Amino acid sequence: MNKFILVGKNIEEIEKFMVDNNQSKYRARQIFNWLYLKSADSYDKMTDLPVSTRELLKEKTLINSIFIKDKQISKDGTIKFLFELSDGNYAEAVLMRFDNRANLTACISTQVGCPMGCLFCATAKLGFVRNLNTEEIIQQIFLIQSDTGLKVTNIVYMGQGEPLLNFDNLMSSIKIFRECFQIGARRITVSTCGIIPGIEKLAELNFQSTLAISLHAADNEKRKQIMPVSKKYSFDNLIETLKKYTNMTSRRVTIEYVLMKDINDSTQDAKNLAYAIAKLKCNVNLIIYNQNEKSDYKKPLRENVLKFKYILEASGKKVTIRLERGSDIDAACGQLSAKMKNV
Ligand code: SF4
Repeated sequence: MNKFILVGKNIEEIEKFMVDNNQSKYRARQIFNWLYLKSADSYDKMTDLPVSTRELLKEKTLINSIFIKDKQISKDGTIKFLFELSDGNYAEAVLMRFDNRANLTACISTQVGCPMGCLFCATAKLGFVRNLNTEEIIQQIFLIQSDTGLKVTNIVYMGQGEPLLNFDNLMSSIKIFRECFQIGARRITVSTCGIIPGIEKLAELNFQSTLAISLHAADNEKRKQIMPVSKKYSFDNLIETLKKYTNMTSRRVTIEYVLMKDINDSTQDAKNLAYAIAKLKCNVNLIIYNQNEKSDYKKPLRENVLKFKYILEASGKKVTIRLERGSDIDAACGQLSAKMKNV
């Protein structure tokens, strides 16, 4: 018998399950609160449910269908989770604290592997296996919370996979994070490598979370060399689509730019980028490439990073340099490769 998976369901779905099983409808709200507000990972923690209801739940439901297989903790406190899915595949998520405040950001995955083939990315080396379903996306946050006892305040869809190629599950998971986990739209960021039809769909839906674009180059020729997506959706079309997006949603986008030594970190690259995004309502997030022995790409010189930032700021853009997190456990940007520790 296929069991009913609880985490990932909304209140109406849980109510329907309870009524179908001759239970009082109001019990659904209790279960909902245990799952989404208290991250209860066992039925026995749901102490305000009668024993008979808990027995029914044990028989006919599963709280979650994915499980924590491995966990690594970085020197800086970043935690990388490896999840085992019900078909034996793996997915990863990362929990980061960026400052001393209570903000906790989780970076989650939307696909097993990724089909986009960005040359600097560890996930790309896995190839594409499959999309994660809504429940598998939601359960990453549920398990992080139940394992750590902490409340995730911000979610970034920047883990493995291209979120806009898993559009329906992306949107239904955002709905559940907002309605059930009570995470506000502005605390959610979706990152894409530039899937133009997906960006157009978000614009039509008046998307109110943050859209981040992994641009990583300032012209089409250079971008094609490191991001094959640019062969299909050109740099210029992408920038034009983003301008329309910002007009339709009245939301600024974030331009993500990974600086790699002698690839895209020159003064000319910075000038080209400033020119290309001059009329785009955006902030820029510069990311220092996480050099590792498995990759030919190198970390940029610090002076080049500062020069790059200065040129963009002089053009009127707000620019931040993203703090490196979890690089010692391969949890930093572009390092997720869903491997077991020591493998
Ligand atoms: S950078 Fe993102 S889109 Fe590109 S291959 Fe890696 S996971 Fe996929």
